[in-house]
Order: sequence, then structure tokens, then C-alpha cells
Amino acid sequence: MSTPSLINILPAAARVAPETPEEVASALAEASRMNRKVVVFSTGHGIPPIGDTSERILLDMSAFDQVEIDPIARVARVGGAVRWQQLVTAAGEFGLTAPFGSAASVGVAGYMMGGGIGFMSRHLGLGCSAIRAAELVTPDGHIRRIDAGSDPDLFWALRGGGGGFGVITALEIELTPVPRMAGGVLGWGIEDAERVLGAWSEWTRQIDDDVTSAVRFMHPPEGPALTVIVVTAPRTAEDLAEVLKPLTDLMPMLNTVRDTDPVAFLGEYTDPDIDPTEPPHVFEHVLLDQLPAEAVQMTAEFAQPLSGCGAMMVEIRHLGGALGRPAYGGGATDRIDGEYSLFVVGFPEAADGMAHAVDVLSDFGRGRTYFNFMPRRTGRQTAHGQETVGRLADLYEAIDPDGLIDHPHPISRTVTVADETATTQVLATIHG
Ligand SMILES: Cc1cc2nc3c(=O)[nH]c(=O)nc-3n(C[C@H](O)[C@H](O)[C@H](O)COP(=O)(O)OP(=O)(O)OC[C@H]3O[C@@H](n4cnc5c(N)ncnc54)[C@H](O)[C@@H]3O)c2cc1C
Repeated sequence: MSTPSLINILPAAARVAPETPEEVASALAEASRMNRKVVVFSTGHGIPPIGDTSERILLDMSAFDQVEIDPIARVARVGGAVRWQQLVTAAGEFGLTAPFGSAASVGVAGYMMGGGIGFMSRHLGLGCSAIRAAELVTPDGHIRRIDAGSDPDLFWALRGGGGGFGVITALEIELTPVPRMAGGVLGWGIEDAERVLGAWSEWTRQIDDDVTSAVRFMHPPEGPALTVIVVTAPRTAEDLAEVLKPLTDLMPMLNTVRDTDPVAFLGEYTDPDIDPTEPPHVFEHVLLDQLPAEAVQMTAEFAQPLSGCGAMMVEIRHLGGALGRPAYGGGATDRIDGEYSLFVVGFPEAADGMAHAVDVLSDFGRGRTYFNFMPRRTGRQTAHGQETVGRLADLYEAIDPDGLIDHPHPISRTVTVADETATTQVLATIHG
């Protein structure tokens, strides 16, 4: 499972593809000698905010794609470029899983550096909290294995600190048994947006912590616009159906909720991969604390075709549950400080409408963001808070004093918005 097209069309002259940790160390040394910054990537999904990469060395980690499962210890060892589909499939053979996201094609390491929220997160918690150890090459070329005992500070940073502390060649990830699981989607027309979102908002305020769901208002290229609820729980379908009654009472025209497992669920409901032959997408995001009737009404209006904000998808994820509780021995991101995540995605011509919608709805939060959904090349303050950013910056300055490794979201003590047009620029490069 890969998207070779995305990787292969990055500028070849600036790309290095190491196959061993020693080759990673050599590549870092060579880049340092050439006085060039290094951009690490495994799938390329997360690097667009960097913008123009022509002066950088692109360190393509795609050769690090092995997965090993120890079903007794319930630990997976995954290479630095392994994608979610590979890990979920391999772990699934033993009835185990990891806190997977909503896209099978996203890289496990990149996802976990930023925290990691997905289809079962209220039950399984943040992705990064499942990291037990990391094998990485630090900017000075040392090949190291980091865990809670060997280097507690760096281990803390690797668990949700956003990345940029070295090149990860492998992660050891704790796996969780999932003896039963139910999930699927409920669907209505877009004209039901306000009614469904209102009922869902009410429902999320009383639902048990193991039930994870999101509302999506979707405008597919063909066919009618839809209001969809995606839901999972580690329960039987019969049990989940009971829980969903306030929503199924709204008579969805589609109800696919049934007994399933993580492999089948991710296979069926994964977000589509980025298609480099399509026009580039842009997105906006903010965390919300509440979703009262006023917010429901405005969101439903923004989601309408023609009169709305122009997004292809407006999504609200329910957070809280295990995402809201500080993880035991947690890292730089140990919980998400918000009840809901608002995420909108669309074509560049909708950028102003989408930015306006998110700006208006941000009144229902405190301007906090979730790291992996930050659209622009900004600092990390809105995702991590000032104190955590200070601690991350101390570590970064010690580990990478020359700033060899560049990152989409630089580790800066002050908030920076380097280039608001960067996303469009780099996607143009990729397409070019
Ligand atoms: C379709 C889609 C769906 C998504 N869904 C979710 C979701 O449900 N939940 C969620 O939390 N996020 C989600 N994301 C965001 C995603 O988690 C981030 O964009 C993440 O950074 C992507 O990681 P990657 O390895 O795939 O991308 P890349 O572009 O390869 O990497 C992104 C960054 O991660 C770091 N990185 C990656 N690999 C390594 C490595 N081996 N060593 C060191 N650093 C590394 C680098 O800093 C790199 O700049 C989604 C993104 C897409 C495109």
C-alpha cells in the first residue's frame, strides 16, 4: 500500500532515500556539510506547510516499511514509514490493534509525532500515548533507542511533541486487544444537517466514553450532498444500536452499523488518499469547547451547497473520553484540550469561505488547535501551550543546535506565521 506518485514527483535532485539507520546518519552529515536543511518524510502527507522545499534535502524514509508483531508482549515494532493500513492489518491477525486514525494511507510515525486522533480514540486514547520506545537518528548522527528509562525528556517530546527531534527509523507501539467492535455510518440528506447535528450534539453530552463518533457534511464530486455520522464502539452491534437510538429515531436513509473489526472498518471507511492528479486541497481547523444551538445552526448553514462556505467536507469530531484524560506517564501531548474538533477541507477557491466559517465558529472554543490538523506553517503555541513549547524548544536547541532538521511547524518560542500561501506553493511544486 503506497502512493509512489506523491513521492516520485518530489524534486529528485534534492531527495535522498536511505535504507538503514547508518545511511540516515550519513545523509544528515552530508546535508550538514552542504549547509542544507533536511525535511524528513515518509508519505509526504504532512509536509505541504513547509512550502518551497527546493533548497532543502528531502529525506525519504519509505524504505523503513517493516512491521513486526509480538502478540505475547502486545507490542508492534514498525518502521519509520509504515502506514496505518499495514499496522492495523498485521496487528489484526492477533485480535490486537493500535490507536489508528481515519486514513489508512497516513504514516504511523508522522501521525504519532503530532498526537494522533482517530476512529476509536475516545476508547483507545491518543496515538502517541501508545509509543513505548523509538529508534532514531539524532541530528548529530547518533543512532539511539529512546524509552522512558533511557532518556525521559526526549521520550516525552517524541510522544506528541510534533516531531523534529531526529529521524525515526522504528517505533515500538503498545497494542490493545479488541475482542469485539461495532461501527458504521448513519446517513441523511444535507437538508437534515441542522436537525441531525443538533441531536448529535445533545447525544455527545451524555454518551459513554467508549463510543467515538464524528459528523461529516460531505459534498462528493458526483451525487447528492450528505449528512453522515461515523461511529464506533468496542461493543456488539446490538448494544451500539441501543446507544444510537436517539440518532436512528431521526430516520437515517443509510445505516451500516454492524459487528466489525478494525481491519474491516478502516478498509471500508478510510479517508481517501491524496490524489496528486487532482487540484490541491486546502483545509482549516480549530478545537471547540461546546456546540450549542447557535453553533449547530451556523455549522449547518456553512455546510449547505451553494449558500455554504464552499468546503468539500465540514467535519466535527467528538473528542473527550480517553482523549480528554491525561494519559498515564503521558508525553508532550497527553490529552486534547477541547470537546470537539472542527475541520473543513476544500479546493483553493473555497479558502476564504472556509477560513471565515472556522473563524466564526472558533468563538465556541478558545483558539486552541490540534497539532496534526494545523493548516499553516505556524509555531506550536495554539496546539501545545506556552509551557510545553518552552520545554520542547529547550530540548530542540540542545539536540539540533544548528537547526538541521526543518519541520512544517517549527519549534519556536514565539508564534510565527511564516507563509500563509505555502500550502498552495508546495502542492504546485508537487504537481509540477
Ligand atoms: C487523508 C488524511 C487523513 C488524516 N487523518 C488524520 C486523523 O484521522 N488523525 C490525525 O491525527 N491526523 C490525521 N491526518 C494528519 C496526519 O496525521 C499528519 O499530516 C501526519 O503528519 C502525516 O504523517 P505522514 O508520515 O503520513 O506524512 P509525512 O509528510 O511523511 O510526514 C509529516 C511529518 O512527520 C514527521 N515524520 C514523518 N515520518 C517521520 C520519520 N520517520 N522520522 C521523523 N519524522 C517523521 C516529519 O516531521 C514530517 O514533516 C490526516 C492526513 C491526511 C492527509
